[in-house]
Amino acid sequence: MIRLDDRAPDQSRPVAFQCGIAPHASGSVLISMGNTRVVCAVMIEENVPRWMKEQRISGGWLTAEYSMLPYSTLTRKPRDVSKGRLDGRSSEIQRLIGRSMRAAVDLEKLGPRTIWVDCDVLQADGGTRTAAITGASLAVTLACRRLVEEKRLAELPIKTLVAAISVGVIENVALLDLNYEEDKAATVDLNLVATEEGALVEIQGAGEEATFSHEQLLQMLSLGQKGIVDLIEAQRAVLANAGATAV
Ligand code: UDP
Repeated sequence: MIRLDDRAPDQSRPVAFQCGIAPHASGSVLISMGNTRVVCAVMIEENVPRWMKEQRISGGWLTAEYSMLPYSTLTRKPRDVSKGRLDGRSSEIQRLIGRSMRAAVDLEKLGPRTIWVDCDVLQADGGTRTAAITGASLAVTLACRRLVEEKRLAELPIKTLVAAISVGVIENVALLDLNYEEDKAATVDLNLVATEEGALVEIQGAGEEATFSHEQLLQMLSLGQKGIVDLIEAQRAVLANAGATAV
């Protein structure tokens, strides 16, 4: 199986992070995974949702929003607002991002605050949800560091870094980090989210008009986990350069 961009089956696309892309946000990162580019920006509000107050749940909350900018796709994608409703895919993805980030944040330590994570796809070429998670983990960490630097919090409310990657099967071969052309051809599509300790946060996997074996699942998991180790290393390098203590 020759990949269109000549990558080895276990080779992910080059990843890059550009921090501070949105200066008014407490933490922001433009993540690139090959041609997929997503802006991840974090703002922190000094309040919690009403349901938390009503149920007297202590600590803070984190919520995420995801959207594809109209010019991120090959043909223009109308904004949800112009259609008057949130697209089902976007809503599924933003809930995935929220769950993934809540695995990274210590909500008790965060105190009565809400972390808003906004992920906007600038350029879509497959793997936008996984890139959004990897970028968001960095943006959330940077935003929380800022809270500590501003002495609004004594301790960093971050438990771990989180990263995500896709794996798919084409012609019975498991491939890491599918681009759009590969995604279209894949018979199995699996998105994996894991922490820096290697613990899994979520697995979204499905056969597209096809099935997959137990053995293929294990193969996809190991490819994905290898990819995530590399992404976490890249996140750590950015955090080390940003001059703050490692998480
Ligand atoms: N895509 C698109 N328009 C859409 C949805 C998806 O062009 O409305 C493309 C885009 O390149 C995306 C890819 O299809 O990255 C795969 O979409 P999928 O729903 O699998 O999510 P993703 O892989 O981006 O997380």
